[in-house]
Amino acid sequence: MDTTSSLTRREHAQFKANILAEALPWMTTWAGRTVVLKIGGNAIADANSQVAINMAEDVAMLHTLGIRLVVVHGGGPQISALADQFNYKPQFADGMRVTDDEMMTIVQTAMCGQVNPMIVRLVADRGVRAVGLAGTDANCLTAHPRPGFGRAGDITAVDPTVITTLLDANIVPVIAPISRGDDGGLVNVNADAAAGAIAAAIRADKVIVLTNIEGLYTDFGTPKASLVNTISTSELHTLIQSGTVEQGMIPKLNALHDAVVAGVPQGHMLDGRESHAVLLEIFTDDGIGTMVLPDDASKE
Ligand code: ADP
Ligand code: MG
Repeated sequence: MDTTSSLTRREHAQFKANILAEALPWMTTWAGRTVVLKIGGNAIADANSQVAINMAEDVAMLHTLGIRLVVVHGGGPQISALADQFNYKPQFADGMRVTDDEMMTIVQTAMCGQVNPMIVRLVADRGVRAVGLAGTDANCLTAHPRPGFGRAGDITAVDPTVITTLLDANIVPVIAPISRGDDGGLVNVNADAAAGAIAAAIRADKVIVLTNIEGLYTDFGTPKASLVNTISTSELHTLIQSGTVEQGMIPKLNALHDAVVAGVPQGHMLDGRESHAVLLEIFTDDGIGTMVLPDDASKE
């Protein structure tokens, strides 16, 4: 429902001014705090889409309001499209892309050659300086290949120096989660896992994962009834162990769980298809998506 359609021009202006005024306490709370935002490849499948434009506007807004913002991105659809052009069949297990050497080259090309510069450009178009990085830059992300997954693997160390240096210079780091392998090669790391590990390493105040679904459903078959608004890390752990969560949701939940256990006070999963979901989450009282809290916080 469009609640503003019956308003006069003047009333509409007043309505917008009220929204700004109501956001003030949230703005003062969040200015100077650190937020890690993971953007799924689906959310930015097309640079001209409204979803991509909203994402770039939100990134620019958070930065302009003084939030120390770190962007980590995925690129699943872009990788799959490029693989398709080379007649490569993507393979997944437990929500992770099985990555042989050829696939690693495709992953790197799509992530560092296409998706990363696209986000940097979209953000720059809105007047904000962003720098694109791979996790290999300045040894930011180190990872170990997971047995059976080829060059796909898990983060073993985060060196946040390059990230904090950019934040201190008022620049938004935009990170592709291609990592330096502890065996010297490249390792393809899930972007949710990278966002969670980075959030923990830089002691972020919040980590937000933007995806293409409303939030976590306890029963994926009956979504509407089973959307989870708030969940504690131990409840989340039980749910992950139960085996009812599938595919791409597994690394997302593990990432939020691990980040919050490591001391990030709030983990969120939001629907990137909803316009300005990030602004709604940070600057209004409305709880949207799924929020992960530490065990002690959610008992209050
Ligand atoms: P992204 O590009 O954001 O990482 P993924 O496809 O990797 O997206 O992960 C999100 C997907 O996980 C959803 O679109 C949904 O199809 C799937 N999924 C599996 N189990 C669940 C669940 N229990 N609740 C919500 N989504 C789920
Ligand atoms: Mg995913």
